[in-house]
Amino acid sequence: MIEVCIIGFGFSAIPLVRELERTKTNFKIISGENDSVWDRLDKSGRLDFNLVSSYHSSFYSFDLVKDEYEKDYFPTAKQFYEMHKRWRAVYEKKVIRDFVVRIDNFKDHSLILTRSGQTFQAKHVIVATGFTRLMNKLLNDIDYSVSNKTFVFGTMGDSANLMISKLIPNNNKIILRMKGFTPLDQQYGREERIFTLDQGEFQNARYISHEMYGAVMMNYITPKSVNPHILLNQFPLFNRDYSWAKAKAYPPSGTIAVKYWPIERYYQEFNENLEESISQGYLLNDITMWLHTGKVIIVPPDTPMDFENKTITYAGIERSFHQYIQGDAEQPRIPTIMIDGVNPYQYLYRDNFMGIIPQKLNNIYLLGLTRPMTGGVANIVEMQSLFIHKLVTQPEFHCKIHHNLSQRIADYNDYYFGNTEPRKTDHTIHFGFYTDDIARLIGIDHKVSECHSVKDLIFYYAFPNNAFKYRLKGEYAIDGIKELIEKINHKHGYFINIFSSLIKNFIYMEHVGDICEWINNGENIIFNNMKYKENYREFIETYIQAYRQVKNILIDETVDEEWDIMVKEACKVRDKMVEKIEENSSSKSDEDSLKPFDLISSIFNSDISSLPNSNDGNISELEYKFIDFIRSTWKPKEYDLPHLFLT
Ligand SMILES: Cc1cc2nc3c(=O)[nH]c(=O)nc-3n(C[C@H](O)[C@H](O)[C@H](O)COP(=O)(O)OP(=O)(O)OC[C@H]3O[C@@H](n4cnc5c(N)ncnc54)[C@H](O)[C@@H]3O)c2cc1C
Repeated sequence: MIEVCIIGFGFSAIPLVRELERTKTNFKIISGENDSVWDRLDKSGRLDFNLVSSYHSSFYSFDLVKDEYEKDYFPTAKQFYEMHKRWRAVYEKKVIRDFVVRIDNFKDHSLILTRSGQTFQAKHVIVATGFTRLMNKLLNDIDYSVSNKTFVFGTMGDSANLMISKLIPNNNKIILRMKGFTPLDQQYGREERIFTLDQGEFQNARYISHEMYGAVMMNYITPKSVNPHILLNQFPLFNRDYSWAKAKAYPPSGTIAVKYWPIERYYQEFNENLEESISQGYLLNDITMWLHTGKVIIVPPDTPMDFENKTITYAGIERSFHQYIQGDAEQPRIPTIMIDGVNPYQYLYRDNFMGIIPQKLNNIYLLGLTRPMTGGVANIVEMQSLFIHKLVTQPEFHCKIHHNLSQRIADYNDYYFGNTEPRKTDHTIHFGFYTDDIARLIGIDHKVSECHSVKDLIFYYAFPNNAFKYRLKGEYAIDGIKELIEKINHKHGYFINIFSSLIKNFIYMEHVGDICEWINNGENIIFNNMKYKENYREFIETYIQAYRQVKNILIDETVDEEWDIMVKEACKVRDKMVEKIEENSSSKSDEDSLKPFDLISSIFNSDISSLPNSNDGNISELEYKFIDFIRSTWKPKEYDLPHLFLT
């Protein structure tokens, strides 16, 4: 009998294979041909875009330590795919190329049947077969060469946004007909210190207060403010309904965000070398800018459409469209599994502990079927791999996790989903919650009680919960992580400004209760700030010409009066909002915001126990408030999570 059998050899399986090799565990891999989304995009010559996730979160820890780290950035699809191929080559000889058609699961083993007629008996089975999705096929099939056509999108996500970014330069017109969505700048910050979106989420702050963390994060995601610079106020149809989200953990599992290059950042990064950057795959995909300039419009989800005659009616105009892009959810490609060889197993994300251990199966684990809302898949699958590795190699650990599995699943679901009905996006999670949960289960987490200095606290709370953070020490430590963390810290100013932003937000919340107006005042709007867009109108034209040059295309510029009327209608609210914008909006909050940064910088190396208290007289009341808050984070009140107890 094989000890461990992995089914599916894609990107997700690599970190587990690496650990099994390290412990010399007896294992086999059975996988169909290389047919991941990246293989298919490569075959059709469509790896010409960049990732929406940062380098820190998209490459494995063991890759990051080997690279001569320079800075965080957005790798191109080609770089990402090269990395997949590199790891594939390392383990290729271990792979049995066959397709699993059925797994019969019994109490202490499984029988794995393949298409070629082979049968394998294994004690533990890991299903790492990835997802299937119509959208992935569309990414390969859609004809980008058409020009001056209208496309209607009934869906929005990173894939749809990628399609739009390739349709716009050919003068195609895009209509979004949907219930709103959540776009987020994929990076933010000032020129000297840029943070990629997924690296600035201070996820462990949830232990200080789940409610406050959720309120702060959701205010970034869907700000409830009257500030006219905010996209949602200019285009209310963007507003996504989150009333379904009732769990304690916030942002809720199931949130889908569209991550885009804000044009102002794209300009700073690539304007000097535009054609070269485009040919590498750095495409402008600022969905908010497309809206601002009328290249895309958003219309109500019930806008009349005639699918047979391919028309859509808006602003009193019946307009022909070329293609309707319909959305679909990712579906796991799990082979047929028969419980006791008799009853078919039905997959539901919420029936699995951490999306990994199915309640109704014995020693079968799911790897790669959990997705991050922000950040890369590497973060998730690396932590899942360590967890699975520990389960299959350490029987006592297996016992600890399994003896109350149903209760764990119930507690997990209660925390992440509340009493809501299952949703098709349940598998999309907030990555830093997830990685810290797994680290705590394995016992490789960082503990706030081990922090001595303010610097330690900042690392605990503000350094992002990437997988490599948990490979600094403990049984899954990797050489070189300490040096990597030091380089990243240095590059990111030791995350002092992320920590000060945490403090500002939380203190404000504590005293005012409602954070929205403060955060959304003037410069403080981090996401979807339309304030800067107008200045880049001309750059769009420069970009489009450069794109056409790179792709070697010539486009007829046609006058489209019909479209202009539709744009006018779609921008009505925005045009009213613009009238409300006061040129010299208050910058008081920006002055305030500098204070915690300076203070924290000055006490960065201090022991927490030696921080001054109110009696010291030489610190202001506000400074004392900050210091008192920092001290209180030493003993976070909401650390205990029942699904993580190891009794
Ligand atoms: C357009 C797009 C953009 C993305 N962008 C990002 C990004 O920016 N950052 C990021 O981190 N991720 C991104 N992803 C997601 C992620 O990187 C990929 O989906 C990744 O390839 C998933 O790897 P996997 O191993 O889970 O699945 P796959 O790569 O699909 O591998 C599964 C393997 O299992 C095999 N298999 C399937 N069924 C069976 C069976 N029954 N028997 C035997 N073998 C089987 C298949 O042949 C395949 O080899 C993106 C995905 C898409 C579609």
